[in-house]
Amino acid sequence: MVQNIRVRFAPSPTGKLHIGGARTALFNWAYARGRGGKFVLRIEDTDPERSTFENEVAILQGLRGLGLDWDEGPDVGGPHAPYHQKDRIARHKELAQVLLEKGWAYRCFCTRERLEVLNQELTAKKERLAYDRRCRGLAASEVEARVAQGEPFVLRFAVPDGKTAFKDLVRGDVVFGNEEVEDWVMVRSDGNPTYNFVVVCDDIDMGITHVFRGEEHLVNTPKQVLLYKAFDSAQPEFGHLPLMLGTDKKKLSKRTGDTALQDYIDRGFPREAIINFLCLQGWALDGATDIFSLEQFVEKFDIKDVSKAGAVFDIDKFMWLAGEYIRTGTVESLADASLPFVVRKGLATADELKARREWYLAVVAGVKERVRTYAELADQIAYLFVDDEKLTYDEAAEKGAKKHERRVEILRTFLDWLRPQIAHGVQPEPLRNAAKQWVADNNLEMPALFQPLRCALTGQAGGPDLFDTMAWLSSARTLRRIELGIERLA
Ligand code: GLU
Repeated sequence: MVQNIRVRFAPSPTGKLHIGGARTALFNWAYARGRGGKFVLRIEDTDPERSTFENEVAILQGLRGLGLDWDEGPDVGGPHAPYHQKDRIARHKELAQVLLEKGWAYRCFCTRERLEVLNQELTAKKERLAYDRRCRGLAASEVEARVAQGEPFVLRFAVPDGKTAFKDLVRGDVVFGNEEVEDWVMVRSDGNPTYNFVVVCDDIDMGITHVFRGEEHLVNTPKQVLLYKAFDSAQPEFGHLPLMLGTDKKKLSKRTGDTALQDYIDRGFPREAIINFLCLQGWALDGATDIFSLEQFVEKFDIKDVSKAGAVFDIDKFMWLAGEYIRTGTVESLADASLPFVVRKGLATADELKARREWYLAVVAGVKERVRTYAELADQIAYLFVDDEKLTYDEAAEKGAKKHERRVEILRTFLDWLRPQIAHGVQPEPLRNAAKQWVADNNLEMPALFQPLRCALTGQAGGPDLFDTMAWLSSARTLRRIELGIERLA
């Protein structure tokens, strides 16, 4: 049993935080939090062209937004600072020198042109593309002379013969034949070290005990395991989390859905639903319970229970889960969380909604059971904010209303009846009963009134109780919309 567990999340700030990255962070965090360990955040910004500070800020915000915190990191500091990989480059170069001296690395002078020709030859022979180790056997004197002449070189890792095996806490025993691992470049000719090299340097220096990351890094692991050996350093435990797959069973991509955490926040998925859904991507509480809290996750999570099989990102299930969280929350919290979405849709300003707080809360309460995301809430109440003259009818709503031949006549007589009923405001409960009685007294079927009426009031085929809707619209707008409906549905 490893004492003093130290795990890390090491995002590259080359883009938005990927939803798979968010899951990696969450699993690492939960593993540490459930075992009194430390969770370290390290920014892998060694690609200067693609790394930006904006991305980094957004990644940190995204993680915080999920409720994650870290014991060490770029913004909170810690005993192993700096936590930006690019600030550790002097150390990386020092360690590269160590491997060079120990004979685990060598200088390679092969030009790009030579490597291209080599690749063409290998391709023609249908052989695996790998460096042919031409520079591995160069005499020390020749190397010295070429360096002295200023010939550019890269540092390559000298992969030994044999096999590289490691135990993956998710996948079990993994064995790679070393012939599958070419003598890869550790340090480029411009002096910049590469990912596989620096990740191990930093993980060693930061005392990382467990490396949990996406399955796409499994192929890198033999290179990294050999590095631990070269450094005479104990290797951490590895656990590769299954790929998140789109509904097409291929790696999740823009083709089948949004891939950035922020996309789901922008679509108004509740934070708790996002976390809960991410927990289910490769892990299950007990196989039967879909809804659970972050605390339960921390308590129960173990890397050994993560599944090997790819996790299909089922958006329908995600939407369902989001709706469940909305339904169990309070009206107030839903109103607050949805407010920015209502504002962003241009329906009202935040001040207007504040000034009409009671009204807004009543509306939110009315649709709470019907929405799954904050954005859906804004969509569903939009009709209340449009000018009566500008209300558009959904195709389905209009079609449904026009099925009823006597619609205009019915709406007209209903309007005459309704006017005095709501002269002093709409009282949904008594009005509902009176209207039902009116339908019965006029020998009508319910839909003959309610379908055209709903279309006129909301423009939608379905929605919350119509008498609540009338109350939200107020008497004057209710009457006006029915008048307009009589003209438009004729
Ligand atoms: N920077 C790497 C990534 O974003 C980290 C991989 C690792 O955890 O080793 O994929």
